[in-house]
Amino acid sequence: MSKPIQAIRGMNDCLPAETAQWQQVEAIIRQTVASYGYSEIRFPIVEFTDLFKRSVGEVTDIVEKEMYTFEDRNGDSLSLRPEGTAVCVRAANQGALLYNQQQRLWYMGPMFRHERPQKGRYRQFHQFGVESYGFESADMDAEVIILSARLWKAFGITEHVRLEINSLGSNEARADYSAALVEYLKEHEAQLDEDSKRRLTTNPLRILDSKNPDVQAVLTDAPKLSEHLDQESIEHFEQLKQRLDAAGIEYVVNEKLVRGLDYYNRTVFEWITESLGSQGTVLAGGRYDGLVEQLGGKATPAVGFAMGIERFVLLLQTLNILTEPTSTADVYIVAAGQGTELKAVEIAEMLRDSAPEIRVVTHSGGGNFKKQMKRADKVGAAVALILGEQELENQQVNIKFLRQQAEQETISWSDIAERVRSAIAE
Ligand code: ATP
Ligand code: MG
Repeated sequence: MSKPIQAIRGMNDCLPAETAQWQQVEAIIRQTVASYGYSEIRFPIVEFTDLFKRSVGEVTDIVEKEMYTFEDRNGDSLSLRPEGTAVCVRAANQGALLYNQQQRLWYMGPMFRHERPQKGRYRQFHQFGVESYGFESADMDAEVIILSARLWKAFGITEHVRLEINSLGSNEARADYSAALVEYLKEHEAQLDEDSKRRLTTNPLRILDSKNPDVQAVLTDAPKLSEHLDQESIEHFEQLKQRLDAAGIEYVVNEKLVRGLDYYNRTVFEWITESLGSQGTVLAGGRYDGLVEQLGGKATPAVGFAMGIERFVLLLQTLNILTEPTSTADVYIVAAGQGTELKAVEIAEMLRDSAPEIRVVTHSGGGNFKKQMKRADKVGAAVALILGEQELENQQVNIKFLRQQAEQETISWSDIAERVRSAIAE
């Protein structure tokens, strides 16, 4: 036998039992975004590489090392999308949704990054995200955070996540701070690691969230981002905090929170859990007022977030919050005897016509009565409808209750839907 072909490392299958858990998560997500008036947007998985270079940033980890980039048959450089924000801006702008308008959008789907696969970090993963366009004030920063908090509430995990927020200020304030930080760090360059030295010239703010304790030690006396914020951003940040207070959402201000993408200004935030080890950021986002213009649209303020669905599902599994599916059918139709098989198919279709919400499985593949009943039990059906030659002649079926103590009954075909409905409601 030849060796079976395996999936690509870091790209996972979602088998039926786990898919059922994802569906529980997706259902709550859909319900939550709808309850805030957000509309779903769908966009391609492949885009021109330039889109990500011009938005996420050329010297970010994502663009430098993590993108799946290839040349297509026309010689264009294309990339599998590593994130949704830039694509959403591209799509909303192209679809004329932005200029002089307000939009509340959401999306969900696979993203691709060539990272080292480990628990909570994959090469194909999924994000659910929201993006709001045309809102400048901090109400909207608060709204998307409040929306995310409602997801935790819906699953009862509020106590297992914490919110960190920060303000990066205006682009000028950020550049001003960046220069001050570089000046300070250059004086202490000998104590920096290779990564941080490289970032001194490419992406200095990222040094702030270095995991290296020696680098963190140097940072203790570094200039503070908050000391370089512009007045308007300070006020914007104050308004955000007031709104979170009013909504009863707890947060800590983490002055070193900077995020790894270039497009953020003012608010940045992350929801973090301690229950998943080092891959603890479940949801992250912020304001990106400059991005639309940077990608060729008319200047439009914007704020949003993305949640890693795998990490969220992992968290819910760890906390035992998702239920395992126990059955794939409510009704199993057993046909034993001359001519019964064809009628069974007809009865099943009739039942689906009058009761589309009921899951009906007809036995397939032959076998005696006992074998068929075994299958009925295996799929977790609540009742078996049994059609034998006698029943066929009388236009009846036997209904056997598989999950409750009740005598088998004989009912006529026209009563099946009603009887099955009441049986599975019990
Ligand atoms: P990290 O610091 O963990 O690498 P990030 O800053 O790269 O995260 P974002 O680009 O902001 O993350 O993406 C938002 C969310 O998407 C993350 O908080 C995380 O939940 C999820 N995510 C990001 N990369 C991966 C990945 N490779 N596998 C699974 N989930 C991911
Ligand atoms: Mg990352």
